[in-house]
Amino acid sequence: MYQLTVLGAGSILPRERHGPAGYALRDLSREGWLLLDCGPGSLRALAAAGLRLASLEAVVLSHYHPDHCLDLWALAFASRNPGLRAARRAPLRLVGPRGLAELLERGARLFGERGWTRFEDAEVVEVDPAAMGARVEAAGFELRHWPTWHTPQAVCWRATDASGATFAYSGDSGPEGELVACATGVDLFACECSFPDDAAVEHHLTPTQAGEVARAAGVKELMLTHFYPELDPGFAAQVAERAYPGPVRCAFDGLQLVRPRA
Ligand SMILES: [Zn+2]
Ligand SMILES: [Zn+2]
Repeated sequence: MYQLTVLGAGSILPRERHGPAGYALRDLSREGWLLLDCGPGSLRALAAAGLRLASLEAVVLSHYHPDHCLDLWALAFASRNPGLRAARRAPLRLVGPRGLAELLERGARLFGERGWTRFEDAEVVEVDPAAMGARVEAAGFELRHWPTWHTPQAVCWRATDASGATFAYSGDSGPEGELVACATGVDLFACECSFPDDAAVEHHLTPTQAGEVARAAGVKELMLTHFYPELDPGFAAQVAERAYPGPVRCAFDGLQLVRPRA
């Protein structure tokens, strides 16, 4: 059984209750948890969500657009805090598609020689973005990834906890991505739904496309997320429901869900 906390259900553009992408995932049989993407504002949202930074075991990234990773540097700076360093029991794992180590090195130099944004003890795990269903472990979850082709590096993630409960996260993806393989049969599918059907943008999904992926994958529940300001979430859910027969909900900042349902 796991708990999902939505830290950011929107894009980089300001919108009430819809900040940039960030999700916290915790296997409820243990204390440690992981961050799935960490767009700007993700760290700030942790306090209200009741998540302790000292128990953060891993950050798992979908791709390197700023709305999905900018708080890496806030996290690096926070990780230098002596109290937090003393409370942390294990090194942080940073997991992402190829290019992560280089990104971290560039980020470490952002604030000069003192290295305020350098991760001092983190373990960096780069994955091959083209691999289909390759596995990596983090925070008690088995994680598998598939390419979405939103960018050459972008991947979607499937997480399975110790009890076998499953969660899938699209990251950013166009309809050409391998989302169906990633989300097949999952208990909860967080799927990006950036723009309306009549204003589709390449390498992103519309509500109809998100519903079609959810139906093809046979997910148990669809949660739409990553709303740009021009897309009304309630309307998006109505549109997705025409393509997907199961339950559809809309993400918003602070939403917490436990799955599978009791
Ligand atoms: Zn993106
Ligand atoms: Zn995005």
